[in-house]
Amino acid sequence: MESKKVVSFKSLNKTVGKFSLKERTFLIPQMNRIGGHLLAATFRGFGIQAKVMDTYKGLDLGKEYTSGKECYPCQITTGDILYFMKKEKERLGEAFDPDDYIYFMPESSGPCRFGMYNKYQRIILDSLPDLNRLKIGSLTTDDGYSLSGLIDSERVSDLRRSSYFSVVVADILDRLLWRIRPYEREPGSTDAFIEHSMHRMEDAFEKHGPGKKFDQILDEMEIIIKEGKDLVDPAIPKKPLIGMVGEIYVRSHVHANQDIIRLLERYGGEVVNASIAEWMNYTSYDRLRDAKIAFRLSMKQLRFGLMKEHLKKIFGYGSELYYQEFRQKKVYDRLAAQIGIVRDHKVGHLEEVLRENDLFSFDAGTEACLSIPGIVEYAREGFNGVVNVYPFTCMPSTITSSIIKPMMEQLDIPYLDTPYDASIQPGREAAIRTFMYQAHQHFNQHGRKAA
Ligand code: SF4
Repeated sequence: MESKKVVSFKSLNKTVGKFSLKERTFLIPQMNRIGGHLLAATFRGFGIQAKVMDTYKGLDLGKEYTSGKECYPCQITTGDILYFMKKEKERLGEAFDPDDYIYFMPESSGPCRFGMYNKYQRIILDSLPDLNRLKIGSLTTDDGYSLSGLIDSERVSDLRRSSYFSVVVADILDRLLWRIRPYEREPGSTDAFIEHSMHRMEDAFEKHGPGKKFDQILDEMEIIIKEGKDLVDPAIPKKPLIGMVGEIYVRSHVHANQDIIRLLERYGGEVVNASIAEWMNYTSYDRLRDAKIAFRLSMKQLRFGLMKEHLKKIFGYGSELYYQEFRQKKVYDRLAAQIGIVRDHKVGHLEEVLRENDLFSFDAGTEACLSIPGIVEYAREGFNGVVNVYPFTCMPSTITSSIIKPMMEQLDIPYLDTPYDASIQPGREAAIRTFMYQAHQHFNQHGRKAA
């Protein structure tokens, strides 16, 4: 691609933000494969032409347009969008128009670099004359990923609720995969089954998502879980249970983390990765928490106008969080016990865990708020090991590691840091084998969390 190396900050206001998705193709980057596909199906149900982009095929382009100092997910997603656009141009020729697409890249206002991805990618797109009109659709944690402005206002709430539901169901499908695969009768049968099940659930979300017919969607999931149970060989004894925390993109993206879950399974583990819904709940919880703090401050200052404003926010974020936790609980109540799928931690409880020993503060934000207490809880619940998966130099995950490591003797559980970038670390597999050896010892001495 020819680049003019144009750097313009004006376009950050005009071509990054919330844009109507009417008559445009909404491009969703692939993080966890199932989650991306169910989200796209939900959007399609609402009449939005949504598509999940291929991932990792454009890594060379991502490397070409980054300096190497950026976070690894930024490099991968940059490559994904450039590769997709390149292929679209080849496919459509003269008919190609970048204005026909909205590229989805959310952001966070937290202290790390996630808020910079879409700005950086904007600069790259602006430097490419045939892509400078491609808009970046950005949702932000600032307003709890509000979807206002994307579709007609009267459908925003339904789309948000169906989208959240798709995230929870995708988490369950992922957990079903990790629950069955270590015990499958036929090698490879679980992967094929889950891929097929994902497409079945895409159909279910396209059909039932817009009407919020969640029970019908769960009926289909229930059938899938029953079928999945048949793949399990009951003669295979229970294996050490490994909890996974870390940076959401790399721990969920099998290419980025070099398929670490499969590697842990190869050395005899069963893995539970932190969910995506946990992060969604955290963003709502954090907004509610901020609104409460602001309300208390305005009350002390007797600023009644501000108090009213913050009360409104408390009500809005509070009901959103209540809805999400209620909906998530209902899904797990119905499905989790059928095959022993591990439930999520409640975010409010995780904050209490942090407070117990003054380990870290939600005031500082980031995923460290979830990872640090998540590790403590895995240890208390009877997991046999914890892995922290993150991009090389990731700020929140490095904080997690520095706080957790001194506690390992007290927690009495094997722990492993696994930072990733595009290179292959020669000692990685040896480290994982050693970790799994320790996890087996822990399992032999203590048993494991009951399913
Ligand atoms: S969470 Fe880590 S990888 Fe993601 S933007 Fe922040 S520092 Fe980078």
